[in-house]
Amino acid sequence: MPRTKVLKVTDIEKDRAALDQAAALLREGKLVAIPTETVYGLAANALDPQAAHAIYTAKGRPGDNPLIVHVSDLSQIPPLVKTVPDALRRLAEAFWPGPMTVIMEKSDKIPPATSGGLETVAIRMPSHPVARELIRRSGVPLAAPSANLSGSPSPTTAQHCIDDLTGRVDVIVDGGECEVGVESTVLTLCTDPPSVLRPGAVTLEMLRQVIPEMTLDPG
Ligand code: AMP
Ligand code: MG
Repeated sequence: MPRTKVLKVTDIEKDRAALDQAAALLREGKLVAIPTETVYGLAANALDPQAAHAIYTAKGRPGDNPLIVHVSDLSQIPPLVKTVPDALRRLAEAFWPGPMTVIMEKSDKIPPATSGGLETVAIRMPSHPVARELIRRSGVPLAAPSANLSGSPSPTTAQHCIDDLTGRVDVIVDGGECEVGVESTVLTLCTDPPSVLRPGAVTLEMLRQVIPEMTLDPG
């Protein structure tokens, strides 16, 4: 069982040492709870099957519930998907970085442990400076579901993560309270027309300004 360390990061320049420590652990396949603008995420290297598997164990999450993969730059996406749909470029321009998650057909680089066994992958580019900096410094896309025990409410402060995950993760990065406080909007480009699977901060109306045919999935 890991001894959980809490690292405070309020300034990405001044707190460089803490960011380096957390990024090094992520590169080694360790688990790090990180602040994002939506909720805190329980992050690990999305390309490392053992690291992704450890997320499910730490959360007590069913293995068929896929993880969202977080990137800090559009250039990270082509290797992760079969093809980059034109709609993705338009959506990214309008809503990234921000609380929108897009599902596309995955490439072989995404292990089944990360995709929950599906042939698709969910990708998001968060806007939180600490999340972005950790992705950038770790040099890998980060799989990160909400940093709570399965069944508990999503955490919006480091203290919520401490309450749920002490002894289960290696580091909790305390970056203060999450701005949005609710999960990202999840939409899929794998249906025709594209559809919203989970409503969130980016509304259907906003999405339709970019993709007029976007629908709301009844499920
Ligand atoms: P969480 O990160 O805890 O907010 O959960 C991520 C959610 O995103 C999952 O529970 C799914 O509902 C959704 N999701 C992620 N990847 C996929 C995918 N490939 N296909 C459909 N839904 C997905
Ligand atoms: Mg969750």
